[in-house]
Amino acid sequence: MSDQVTHFIGGVPVAEGATFATYDPVTGQPVRRVHEADRAVVDRAVAAARAALPRWAALPVEERAAWMRRLADAIEERFEELVAAEIADTGKSITQTRTLDIPRGAANFRSFAEIAAQRPESAFHLRDVLSYTVRRPLGVVAVIVPWNLPFLLATWKIGPSLVAGNTIVVKPSEHTPGSVAVLAEIAASVGLPPGVLNVVHGFGGGSTGQFLVEHPGVDAVTFTGESRTGSTIMKSVADRVKPVSFELGGKNAGLVFADADLDAAVEGSVRSVFTNGGQVCLCTERLYVERPVFEEFTARLAERAGRLKFGRPADEDTTMMPMISAEHRDKVLSYYELAKDEGAEIRAGGGVPRFGDDRDGGYYVEPTVLTGLSRDSRVNREEIFGPVCHIMPFDTETEAVELANDSEYGLAATVWTSSLNRAHRVARSLEAGLVWVNTWYLRDLRTPFGGVKLSGIGREGGTHSLDFYSEPTTITIKL
Ligand code: NAD
Repeated sequence: MSDQVTHFIGGVPVAEGATFATYDPVTGQPVRRVHEADRAVVDRAVAAARAALPRWAALPVEERAAWMRRLADAIEERFEELVAAEIADTGKSITQTRTLDIPRGAANFRSFAEIAAQRPESAFHLRDVLSYTVRRPLGVVAVIVPWNLPFLLATWKIGPSLVAGNTIVVKPSEHTPGSVAVLAEIAASVGLPPGVLNVVHGFGGGSTGQFLVEHPGVDAVTFTGESRTGSTIMKSVADRVKPVSFELGGKNAGLVFADADLDAAVEGSVRSVFTNGGQVCLCTERLYVERPVFEEFTARLAERAGRLKFGRPADEDTTMMPMISAEHRDKVLSYYELAKDEGAEIRAGGGVPRFGDDRDGGYYVEPTVLTGLSRDSRVNREEIFGPVCHIMPFDTETEAVELANDSEYGLAATVWTSSLNRAHRVARSLEAGLVWVNTWYLRDLRTPFGGVKLSGIGREGGTHSLDFYSEPTTITIKL
Protein backbone atom coordinates (compact mmCIF):
# COMPACT_ATOMS: atom_id res chain seq x y z
CA MET A 1 0.00 0.00 0.00
CA SER A 2 1.49 3.32 -1.10
CA ASP A 3 1.83 5.97 1.60
CA GLN A 4 0.31 8.61 -0.70
CA VAL A 5 -3.21 8.66 -2.08
CA THR A 6 -3.57 10.43 -5.40
CA HIS A 7 -6.51 11.46 -7.55
CA PHE A 8 -7.34 9.42 -10.64
CA ILE A 9 -8.28 11.48 -13.68
CA GLY A 10 -8.59 10.45 -17.30
CA GLY A 11 -7.19 7.01 -16.53
CA VAL A 12 -4.00 8.16 -14.77
CA PRO A 13 -2.96 9.01 -11.19
CA VAL A 14 -2.71 12.75 -10.49
CA ALA A 15 -0.67 13.84 -7.45
CA GLU A 16 -1.72 17.47 -7.17
CA GLY A 17 -2.88 19.72 -4.38
CA ALA A 18 -1.87 20.11 -0.74
CA THR A 19 -1.88 16.91 1.27
CA PHE A 20 -3.64 15.95 4.48
CA ALA A 21 -3.23 12.92 6.74
CA THR A 22 -5.50 9.98 7.41
CA TYR A 23 -5.30 8.34 10.83
CA ASP A 24 -5.48 4.72 11.95
CA PRO A 25 -8.61 4.58 14.16
CA VAL A 26 -7.04 1.68 16.09
CA THR A 27 -4.07 3.72 17.36
CA GLY A 28 -4.73 7.33 16.34
CA GLN A 29 -1.44 7.35 14.43
CA PRO A 30 -1.19 9.00 10.98
CA VAL A 31 -1.25 6.44 8.16
CA ARG A 32 -1.05 8.12 4.78
CA ARG A 33 -0.99 11.48 3.01
CA VAL A 34 -3.88 12.28 0.70
CA HIS A 35 -3.93 14.96 -2.00
CA GLU A 36 -6.79 17.45 -1.74
CA ALA A 37 -8.41 18.41 -5.05
CA ASP A 38 -8.87 22.15 -5.46
CA ARG A 39 -11.22 23.73 -8.02
CA ALA A 40 -8.69 23.30 -10.85
CA VAL A 41 -8.26 19.56 -10.19
CA VAL A 42 -12.03 19.08 -9.90
CA ASP A 43 -12.36 20.96 -13.19
CA ARG A 44 -9.98 18.53 -14.89
CA ALA A 45 -11.81 15.51 -13.49
CA VAL A 46 -15.18 16.81 -14.71
CA ALA A 47 -13.65 17.65 -18.11
CA ALA A 48 -12.21 14.11 -18.36
CA ALA A 49 -15.61 12.62 -17.53
CA ARG A 50 -17.32 14.90 -20.06
CA ALA A 51 -14.81 13.96 -22.78
CA ALA A 52 -15.35 10.24 -22.16
CA LEU A 53 -19.15 10.52 -22.07
CA PRO A 54 -20.19 10.31 -25.76
CA ARG A 55 -18.34 7.05 -26.49
CA TRP A 56 -19.25 5.41 -23.18
CA ALA A 57 -22.92 6.41 -23.45
CA ALA A 58 -23.07 5.09 -27.02
CA LEU A 59 -21.83 1.60 -26.10
CA PRO A 60 -24.53 -1.09 -26.11
CA VAL A 61 -25.58 -1.83 -22.55
CA GLU A 62 -24.26 -5.41 -22.91
CA GLU A 63 -20.77 -4.00 -23.45
CA ARG A 64 -20.96 -1.74 -20.43
CA ALA A 65 -22.27 -4.71 -18.44
CA ALA A 66 -19.22 -6.70 -19.60
CA TRP A 67 -16.97 -3.94 -18.24
CA MET A 68 -18.77 -4.17 -14.89
CA ARG A 69 -18.10 -7.92 -14.78
CA ARG A 70 -14.43 -7.30 -15.57
CA LEU A 71 -14.26 -4.85 -12.67
CA ALA A 72 -15.92 -7.40 -10.36
CA ASP A 73 -13.42 -10.09 -11.43
CA ALA A 74 -10.50 -7.72 -10.84
CA ILE A 75 -11.86 -6.77 -7.40
CA GLU A 76 -11.82 -10.45 -6.51
CA GLU A 77 -8.25 -10.80 -7.82
CA ARG A 78 -7.08 -7.92 -5.62
CA PHE A 79 -9.37 -8.89 -2.75
CA GLU A 80 -6.77 -8.92 0.05
CA GLU A 81 -5.31 -5.58 -1.06
CA LEU A 82 -8.77 -4.02 -0.85
CA VAL A 83 -9.34 -5.63 2.54
CA ALA A 84 -6.06 -4.14 3.80
CA ALA A 85 -6.87 -0.67 2.42
CA GLU A 86 -10.31 -0.70 4.04
CA ILE A 87 -8.94 -1.82 7.40
CA ALA A 88 -6.13 0.76 7.35
CA ASP A 89 -8.68 3.57 7.00
CA THR A 90 -11.47 2.28 9.25
CA GLY A 91 -10.09 -0.22 11.80
CA LYS A 92 -12.83 -2.68 10.78
CA SER A 93 -12.38 -6.32 11.73
CA ILE A 94 -10.89 -8.56 9.10
CA THR A 95 -13.83 -10.93 9.42
CA GLN A 96 -16.40 -8.25 8.56
CA THR A 97 -14.25 -6.73 5.82
CA ARG A 98 -13.75 -10.11 4.14
CA THR A 99 -17.37 -11.19 4.40
CA LEU A 100 -19.29 -7.94 3.92
CA ASP A 101 -17.48 -4.83 2.72
CA ILE A 102 -15.33 -6.09 -0.15
CA PRO A 103 -17.52 -8.97 -1.45
CA ARG A 104 -20.47 -6.56 -1.63
CA GLY A 105 -18.30 -4.28 -3.79
CA ALA A 106 -17.85 -7.05 -6.37
CA ALA A 107 -21.54 -8.00 -6.05
CA ASN A 108 -22.56 -4.40 -6.70
CA PHE A 109 -20.87 -4.46 -10.11
CA ARG A 110 -22.04 -7.95 -10.99
CA SER A 111 -25.68 -7.56 -10.01
CA PHE A 112 -26.14 -4.22 -11.80
CA ALA A 113 -24.52 -5.74 -14.90
CA GLU A 114 -27.18 -8.48 -14.88
CA ILE A 115 -30.08 -6.18 -14.10
CA ALA A 116 -29.14 -3.63 -16.77
CA ALA A 117 -28.48 -6.20 -19.48
CA GLN A 118 -31.82 -7.94 -18.88
CA ARG A 119 -33.97 -4.85 -18.57
CA PRO A 120 -36.85 -4.82 -21.08
CA GLU A 121 -37.71 -1.66 -23.00
CA SER A 122 -41.33 -0.60 -22.74
CA ALA A 123 -43.61 -0.03 -25.72
CA PHE A 124 -47.34 0.69 -25.90
CA HIS A 125 -49.70 0.37 -28.86
CA LEU A 126 -52.89 2.42 -28.91
CA ARG A 127 -54.85 1.99 -32.18
CA ASP A 128 -52.56 3.58 -34.78
CA VAL A 129 -50.06 5.00 -32.31
CA LEU A 130 -46.89 3.40 -31.02
CA SER A 131 -45.25 4.93 -27.94
CA TYR A 132 -42.02 3.65 -26.60
CA THR A 133 -39.38 4.85 -24.22
CA VAL A 134 -35.64 4.95 -24.54
CA ARG A 135 -33.44 5.69 -21.56
CA ARG A 136 -30.38 7.88 -21.84
CA PRO A 137 -27.70 8.55 -19.23
CA LEU A 138 -27.82 11.70 -17.12
CA GLY A 139 -24.32 12.70 -18.24
CA VAL A 140 -21.52 13.38 -15.77
CA VAL A 141 -22.51 12.23 -12.29
CA ALA A 142 -20.85 13.29 -9.02
CA VAL A 143 -20.68 10.39 -6.56
CA ILE A 144 -20.15 11.55 -2.95
CA VAL A 145 -19.84 8.89 -0.28
CA PRO A 146 -19.18 8.61 3.48
CA TRP A 147 -16.65 6.73 5.57
CA ASN A 148 -18.65 4.01 7.30
CA LEU A 149 -18.79 1.40 4.51
CA PRO A 150 -16.43 3.07 2.06
CA PHE A 151 -16.09 0.41 -0.65
CA LEU A 152 -19.59 -1.04 -0.34
CA LEU A 153 -21.33 2.34 -0.57
CA ALA A 154 -19.12 3.73 -3.34
CA THR A 155 -19.56 0.68 -5.58
CA TRP A 156 -23.31 0.69 -4.84
CA LYS A 157 -23.44 3.96 -6.80
CA ILE A 158 -20.51 3.49 -9.20
CA GLY A 159 -21.84 0.21 -10.67
CA PRO A 160 -25.33 1.39 -11.71
CA SER A 161 -24.23 4.88 -12.76
CA LEU A 162 -21.61 3.43 -15.12
CA VAL A 163 -23.73 0.64 -16.53
CA ALA A 164 -26.45 3.20 -17.28
CA GLY A 165 -23.95 5.02 -19.51
CA ASN A 166 -22.85 7.93 -17.31
CA THR A 167 -19.28 8.94 -16.72
CA ILE A 168 -18.47 9.82 -13.13
CA VAL A 169 -16.31 11.71 -10.68
CA VAL A 170 -16.20 10.01 -7.28
CA LYS A 171 -15.28 11.76 -4.05
CA PRO A 172 -14.70 9.31 -1.20
CA SER A 173 -14.75 10.51 2.39
CA GLU A 174 -11.63 12.34 3.53
CA HIS A 175 -11.31 9.69 6.26
CA THR A 176 -11.39 6.67 3.94
CA PRO A 177 -9.82 7.31 0.53
CA GLY A 178 -7.91 4.01 0.32
CA SER A 179 -10.22 1.36 -1.13
CA VAL A 180 -11.68 3.61 -3.86
CA ALA A 181 -8.10 4.59 -4.77
CA VAL A 182 -7.40 0.86 -5.30
CA LEU A 183 -10.59 0.62 -7.39
CA ALA A 184 -9.22 3.39 -9.63
CA GLU A 185 -6.03 1.35 -10.13
CA ILE A 186 -8.20 -1.66 -10.91
CA ALA A 187 -10.15 0.33 -13.50
CA ALA A 188 -6.89 1.31 -15.18
CA SER A 189 -5.53 -2.24 -15.02
CA VAL A 190 -8.57 -3.74 -16.78
CA GLY A 191 -8.43 -0.99 -19.42
CA LEU A 192 -11.68 0.80 -18.58
CA PRO A 193 -11.75 3.69 -21.09
CA PRO A 194 -9.94 6.72 -19.58
CA GLY A 195 -12.25 9.37 -18.12
CA VAL A 196 -15.17 7.01 -17.50
CA LEU A 197 -14.31 6.67 -13.79
CA ASN A 198 -12.46 9.54 -12.12
CA VAL A 199 -11.66 9.93 -8.43
CA VAL A 200 -10.86 13.14 -6.54
CA HIS A 201 -9.99 13.32 -2.86
CA GLY A 202 -10.58 16.05 -0.32
CA PHE A 203 -13.02 17.43 2.20
CA GLY A 204 -16.68 18.45 1.88
CA GLY A 205 -17.88 22.03 2.41
CA GLY A 206 -15.42 24.67 1.11
CA SER A 207 -13.37 21.92 -0.50
CA THR A 208 -13.46 19.19 -3.13
CA GLY A 209 -16.99 17.96 -2.38
CA GLN A 210 -18.55 21.38 -2.69
CA PHE A 211 -16.47 22.26 -5.79
CA LEU A 212 -17.65 19.04 -7.41
CA VAL A 213 -21.40 19.27 -6.73
CA GLU A 214 -21.48 22.95 -7.73
CA HIS A 215 -19.54 22.37 -10.94
CA PRO A 216 -21.58 23.38 -13.98
CA GLY A 217 -20.24 20.35 -15.86
CA VAL A 218 -21.82 17.96 -13.34
CA ASP A 219 -25.30 16.89 -14.41
CA ALA A 220 -26.48 15.00 -11.30
CA VAL A 221 -25.41 14.23 -7.75
CA THR A 222 -25.71 10.93 -5.94
CA PHE A 223 -24.88 11.29 -2.27
CA THR A 224 -24.76 9.16 0.85
CA GLY A 225 -24.09 10.87 4.15
CA GLU A 226 -25.61 12.99 6.86
CA SER A 227 -29.04 14.55 6.41
CA ARG A 228 -27.60 18.00 7.15
CA THR A 229 -25.02 17.58 4.37
CA GLY A 230 -27.77 16.43 2.01
CA SER A 231 -29.66 19.60 2.74
CA THR A 232 -26.54 21.72 2.07
CA ILE A 233 -25.89 19.91 -1.23
CA MET A 234 -29.51 20.33 -2.25
CA LYS A 235 -29.22 24.08 -1.80
CA SER A 236 -25.99 24.23 -3.76
CA VAL A 237 -27.45 22.40 -6.77
CA ALA A 238 -30.85 24.11 -6.62
CA ASP A 239 -30.04 26.85 -9.14
CA ARG A 240 -29.25 24.28 -11.79
CA VAL A 241 -32.05 21.90 -10.67
CA LYS A 242 -29.70 18.93 -10.87
CA PRO A 243 -31.28 15.56 -10.07
CA VAL A 244 -30.22 14.23 -6.68
CA SER A 245 -30.37 10.82 -5.08
CA PHE A 246 -29.87 11.06 -1.34
CA GLU A 247 -29.25 8.22 1.11
CA LEU A 248 -29.10 10.01 4.45
CA GLY A 249 -29.14 9.46 8.19
CA GLY A 250 -31.35 7.31 10.37
CA LYS A 251 -32.61 6.92 13.93
CA ASN A 252 -33.89 3.44 13.37
CA ALA A 253 -36.38 1.68 15.63
CA GLY A 254 -36.47 -1.98 16.59
CA LEU A 255 -39.72 -3.45 17.95
CA VAL A 256 -39.54 -6.58 20.09
CA PHE A 257 -42.91 -8.21 20.80
CA ALA A 258 -43.42 -10.63 23.68
CA ASP A 259 -44.24 -13.42 21.22
CA ALA A 260 -40.81 -13.11 19.55
CA ASP A 261 -38.12 -15.77 19.65
CA LEU A 262 -36.17 -13.92 22.34
CA ASP A 263 -32.84 -15.58 21.56
CA ALA A 264 -33.13 -14.45 17.95
CA ALA A 265 -34.28 -10.98 18.98
CA VAL A 266 -31.33 -10.53 21.35
CA GLU A 267 -28.74 -11.84 18.88
CA GLY A 268 -30.32 -9.90 16.02
CA SER A 269 -30.27 -6.73 18.09
CA VAL A 270 -26.61 -7.29 19.02
CA ARG A 271 -25.96 -7.18 15.27
CA SER A 272 -28.32 -4.33 14.48
CA VAL A 273 -27.01 -2.10 17.28
CA PHE A 274 -23.28 -2.86 17.32
CA THR A 275 -22.22 -3.95 13.81
CA ASN A 276 -19.45 -1.75 12.42
CA GLY A 277 -19.30 -0.03 15.83
CA GLY A 278 -22.91 1.11 15.31
CA GLN A 279 -21.68 3.14 12.36
CA VAL A 280 -24.17 1.87 9.79
CA CYS A 281 -27.04 4.08 8.66
CA LEU A 282 -29.30 1.04 9.19
CA CYS A 283 -28.23 0.40 12.79
CA THR A 284 -30.91 0.36 15.48
CA GLU A 285 -30.59 3.17 18.06
CA ARG A 286 -34.12 2.99 19.52
CA LEU A 287 -35.47 -0.31 20.82
CA TYR A 288 -39.05 -0.70 22.03
CA VAL A 289 -39.77 -3.92 23.89
CA GLU A 290 -43.15 -5.26 25.00
CA ARG A 291 -43.34 -4.95 28.78
CA PRO A 292 -43.51 -8.67 29.76
CA VAL A 293 -40.10 -9.31 28.15
CA PHE A 294 -38.57 -5.85 28.65
CA GLU A 295 -36.42 -6.71 31.69
CA GLU A 296 -35.18 -10.01 30.34
CA PHE A 297 -34.41 -8.58 26.89
CA THR A 298 -32.61 -5.55 28.35
CA ALA A 299 -30.54 -7.62 30.76
CA ARG A 300 -29.55 -10.04 28.00
CA LEU A 301 -28.64 -7.32 25.47
CA ALA A 302 -26.60 -5.49 28.12
CA GLU A 303 -24.80 -8.71 29.01
CA ARG A 304 -24.01 -9.40 25.33
CA ALA A 305 -22.80 -5.80 24.86
CA GLY A 306 -20.31 -6.36 27.67
CA ARG A 307 -18.96 -9.47 25.94
CA LEU A 308 -18.21 -7.87 22.56
CA LYS A 309 -14.53 -8.22 21.81
CA PHE A 310 -12.23 -5.27 21.24
CA GLY A 311 -9.52 -7.21 19.44
CA ARG A 312 -7.23 -5.91 16.74
CA PRO A 313 -8.68 -5.84 13.23
CA ALA A 314 -6.53 -8.84 12.27
CA ASP A 315 -7.98 -11.04 15.06
CA GLU A 316 -10.72 -13.12 13.53
CA ASP A 317 -12.89 -13.03 16.65
CA THR A 318 -12.88 -9.22 16.99
CA THR A 319 -16.44 -7.91 17.19
CA MET A 320 -15.97 -4.23 18.20
CA MET A 321 -14.21 -1.68 16.04
CA PRO A 322 -13.20 1.88 16.86
CA MET A 323 -15.03 5.05 15.81
CA ILE A 324 -13.72 6.52 12.59
CA SER A 325 -12.04 9.63 14.05
CA ALA A 326 -11.24 11.44 17.27
CA GLU A 327 -13.96 13.94 16.40
CA HIS A 328 -16.58 11.25 15.90
CA ARG A 329 -15.53 9.45 19.09
CA ASP A 330 -15.97 12.74 20.97
CA LYS A 331 -19.41 13.18 19.41
CA VAL A 332 -20.50 9.70 20.51
CA LEU A 333 -19.08 10.25 24.01
CA SER A 334 -20.91 13.57 24.23
CA TYR A 335 -24.15 11.60 23.76
CA TYR A 336 -23.11 9.19 26.51
CA GLU A 337 -22.70 12.25 28.78
CA LEU A 338 -25.95 13.76 27.55
CA ALA A 339 -27.75 10.49 28.32
CA LYS A 340 -26.52 10.75 31.93
CA ASP A 341 -27.62 14.40 32.10
CA GLU A 342 -31.02 13.48 30.69
CA GLY A 343 -31.40 10.87 33.45
CA ALA A 344 -30.62 7.60 31.68
CA GLU A 345 -29.81 4.41 33.47
CA ILE A 346 -26.65 2.96 31.93
CA ARG A 347 -27.15 -0.79 31.63
CA ALA A 348 -23.87 -1.43 29.79
CA GLY A 349 -20.84 0.57 28.76
CA GLY A 350 -21.05 4.33 28.83
CA GLY A 351 -17.34 5.04 28.68
CA VAL A 352 -14.02 4.39 26.98
CA PRO A 353 -12.22 1.05 27.20
CA ARG A 354 -8.63 1.00 28.44
CA PHE A 355 -6.17 -1.45 26.91
CA GLY A 356 -2.76 -0.54 28.35
CA ASP A 357 -1.30 -0.57 24.83
CA ASP A 358 -1.21 1.56 21.67
CA ARG A 359 -4.98 1.18 21.24
CA ASP A 360 -5.38 3.70 24.05
CA GLY A 361 -4.49 6.30 21.39
CA GLY A 362 -7.29 4.97 19.16
CA TYR A 363 -10.91 5.99 18.89
CA TYR A 364 -12.70 3.26 20.84
CA VAL A 365 -15.87 3.68 22.88
CA GLU A 366 -17.76 1.07 24.87
CA PRO A 367 -20.89 -0.55 23.46
CA THR A 368 -23.63 1.04 25.48
CA VAL A 369 -27.18 0.14 26.47
CA LEU A 370 -29.42 2.80 28.00
CA THR A 371 -32.88 2.82 29.56
CA GLY A 372 -35.05 5.31 31.41
CA LEU A 373 -35.15 8.22 28.95
CA SER A 374 -38.28 9.88 27.63
CA ARG A 375 -39.20 9.63 23.97
CA ASP A 376 -38.46 13.35 23.65
CA SER A 377 -34.91 13.19 25.00
CA ARG A 378 -32.25 14.27 22.52
CA VAL A 379 -30.61 10.85 22.86
CA ASN A 380 -33.83 9.32 21.54
CA ARG A 381 -34.28 11.83 18.74
CA GLU A 382 -30.83 12.58 17.27
CA GLU A 383 -28.68 10.22 15.22
CA ILE A 384 -25.64 9.27 17.33
CA PHE A 385 -24.01 6.84 14.86
CA GLY A 386 -22.21 4.84 17.52
CA PRO A 387 -22.52 1.50 19.36
CA VAL A 388 -25.44 2.56 21.50
CA CYS A 389 -29.16 2.04 21.89
CA HIS A 390 -31.89 3.13 24.25
CA ILE A 391 -34.56 0.58 25.25
CA MET A 392 -38.09 1.56 26.27
CA PRO A 393 -41.06 -0.63 27.22
CA PHE A 394 -44.43 -0.55 25.43
CA ASP A 395 -47.82 -2.10 26.18
CA THR A 396 -49.73 -2.31 22.92
CA GLU A 397 -49.00 -2.80 19.23
CA THR A 398 -50.53 0.59 18.44
CA GLU A 399 -48.26 2.27 20.95
CA ALA A 400 -45.21 0.45 19.54
CA VAL A 401 -45.92 1.65 16.01
CA GLU A 402 -46.58 5.16 17.23
CA LEU A 403 -43.28 5.25 19.15
CA ALA A 404 -41.34 3.88 16.19
CA ASN A 405 -42.84 6.48 13.84
CA ASP A 406 -42.19 9.34 16.24
CA SER A 407 -38.98 10.41 14.52
CA GLU A 408 -37.83 12.94 11.96
CA TYR A 409 -35.98 10.08 10.27
CA GLY A 410 -37.40 7.09 8.38
CA LEU A 411 -34.70 4.83 7.01
CA ALA A 412 -35.04 1.35 8.49
CA ALA A 413 -36.94 -0.55 11.17
CA THR A 414 -36.76 -4.04 12.60
CA VAL A 415 -39.68 -6.10 13.95
CA TRP A 416 -39.26 -9.18 16.11
CA THR A 417 -42.41 -11.31 16.41
CA SER A 418 -43.59 -14.87 15.78
CA SER A 419 -47.04 -13.74 14.64
CA LEU A 420 -47.34 -13.66 10.86
CA ASN A 421 -50.33 -11.36 11.00
CA ARG A 422 -48.63 -8.92 13.30
CA ALA A 423 -45.48 -8.96 11.17
CA HIS A 424 -47.39 -7.83 8.08
CA ARG A 425 -49.63 -5.40 9.96
CA VAL A 426 -46.81 -3.67 11.79
CA ALA A 427 -44.34 -3.68 8.89
CA ARG A 428 -46.70 -1.82 6.59
CA SER A 429 -47.54 0.74 9.31
CA LEU A 430 -43.95 1.80 9.85
CA GLU A 431 -42.74 5.03 8.27
CA ALA A 432 -39.48 3.65 6.94
CA GLY A 433 -38.04 2.79 3.56
CA LEU A 434 -36.87 -0.64 4.80
CA VAL A 435 -38.46 -2.95 7.35
CA TRP A 436 -36.85 -6.20 8.42
CA VAL A 437 -38.88 -8.88 10.22
CA ASN A 438 -36.95 -11.31 12.42
CA THR A 439 -33.70 -10.32 10.74
CA TRP A 440 -31.57 -7.28 10.00
CA TYR A 441 -29.51 -6.08 7.04
CA LEU A 442 -30.49 -8.95 4.78
CA ARG A 443 -30.38 -7.46 1.31
CA ASP A 444 -31.58 -8.46 -2.11
CA LEU A 445 -29.86 -5.96 -4.39
CA ARG A 446 -32.87 -5.84 -6.73
CA THR A 447 -35.13 -4.30 -4.10
CA PRO A 448 -35.52 -0.53 -3.60
CA PHE A 449 -33.26 0.93 -0.92
CA GLY A 450 -33.67 4.33 0.67
CA GLY A 451 -35.48 6.31 3.30
CA VAL A 452 -38.37 8.65 3.97
CA LYS A 453 -38.47 11.96 5.87
CA LEU A 454 -34.95 13.19 6.78
CA SER A 455 -33.49 9.85 5.66
CA GLY A 456 -33.38 10.61 1.98
CA ILE A 457 -34.82 11.29 -1.43
CA GLY A 458 -35.40 8.56 -3.99
CA ARG A 459 -34.58 4.89 -4.04
CA GLU A 460 -31.58 3.00 -5.36
CA GLY A 461 -31.28 -0.75 -5.90
CA GLY A 462 -32.08 -2.85 -8.95
CA THR A 463 -34.04 -1.03 -11.62
CA HIS A 464 -34.63 1.84 -9.19
CA SER A 465 -30.93 2.73 -9.49
CA LEU A 466 -31.09 2.46 -13.27
CA ASP A 467 -34.13 4.75 -13.25
CA PHE A 468 -32.28 7.40 -11.27
CA TYR A 469 -29.09 7.17 -13.33
CA SER A 470 -30.93 7.62 -16.63
CA GLU A 471 -33.67 9.80 -18.10
CA PRO A 472 -36.52 8.40 -20.17
CA THR A 473 -37.40 9.91 -23.52
CA THR A 474 -40.83 8.92 -24.75
CA ILE A 475 -41.10 8.56 -28.52
CA THR A 476 -44.60 8.54 -29.99
CA ILE A 477 -45.14 7.54 -33.62
CA LYS A 478 -48.34 7.89 -35.58
CA LEU A 479 -48.52 4.72 -37.62
P1 NAD B 1 -21.04 13.49 5.85
O1 NAD B 1 -22.33 14.01 5.35
O2 NAD B 1 -20.29 14.27 6.84
O3 NAD B 1 -20.03 13.26 4.62
C1 NAD B 1 -20.35 12.43 3.54
C2 NAD B 1 -19.55 12.88 2.32
O4 NAD B 1 -19.99 14.17 1.92
C3 NAD B 1 -18.06 12.99 2.56
O5 NAD B 1 -17.38 12.55 1.40
C4 NAD B 1 -17.87 14.49 2.75
O6 NAD B 1 -16.58 14.95 2.43
C5 NAD B 1 -18.89 15.04 1.78
N1 NAD B 1 -19.38 16.39 2.06
C6 NAD B 1 -19.55 17.00 3.26
N2 NAD B 1 -20.03 18.25 3.08
C7 NAD B 1 -20.20 18.44 1.75
C8 NAD B 1 -20.65 19.52 0.94
N3 NAD B 1 -21.06 20.68 1.48
N4 NAD B 1 -20.68 19.35 -0.41
C9 NAD B 1 -20.29 18.19 -0.97
N5 NAD B 1 -19.82 17.14 -0.26
C10 NAD B 1 -19.78 17.25 1.09
O7 NAD B 1 -21.36 12.03 6.38
P2 NAD B 1 -20.35 11.03 7.10
O8 NAD B 1 -20.08 11.52 8.48
O9 NAD B 1 -19.20 10.75 6.20
O10 NAD B 1 -21.24 9.70 7.15
C11 NAD B 1 -22.12 9.38 8.18
C12 NAD B 1 -23.54 9.72 7.80
O11 NAD B 1 -23.91 9.02 6.62
C13 NAD B 1 -24.56 9.28 8.83
O12 NAD B 1 -25.53 10.30 8.99
C14 NAD B 1 -25.21 8.05 8.22
O13 NAD B 1 -26.50 7.75 8.67
C15 NAD B 1 -25.20 8.41 6.78
N6 NAD B 1 -25.29 7.22 5.93
C16 NAD B 1 -26.45 6.97 5.24
C17 NAD B 1 -26.57 5.82 4.46
C18 NAD B 1 -27.83 5.50 3.72
O14 NAD B 1 -27.79 4.61 2.87
N7 NAD B 1 -28.94 6.15 3.97
C19 NAD B 1 -25.49 4.94 4.39
C20 NAD B 1 -24.33 5.22 5.10
C21 NAD B 1 -24.23 6.38 5.87
